Amino acid sequence: MAYQITDACIACGACAAECPVEAITEGDGKFEIDPEKCIECGACAGTCPVGAPEQA
Ligand code: SF4
Ligand code: SF4
Repeated sequence: MAYQITDACIACGACAAECPVEAITEGDGKFEIDPEKCIECGACAGTCPVGAPEQA
């Protein structure tokens, strides 16, 4: 399953810079992952300072 970003996101943008397939974009108050693009590499989860990306 693709990763999802929870409401813990503080919209810092660090994950978007790390995603190898550019699946992460800024949404309404937090960042969002396009499940059609996510290859489940885990880079976003490893980069996020608040642990917001979680595997569904
Ligand atoms: Fe991008 Fe990897 Fe995170 Fe999926 S798991 S959104 S591919 S960084
Ligand atoms: Fe949100 Fe974490 Fe991504 Fe920063 S790194 S935008 S806090 S999900």
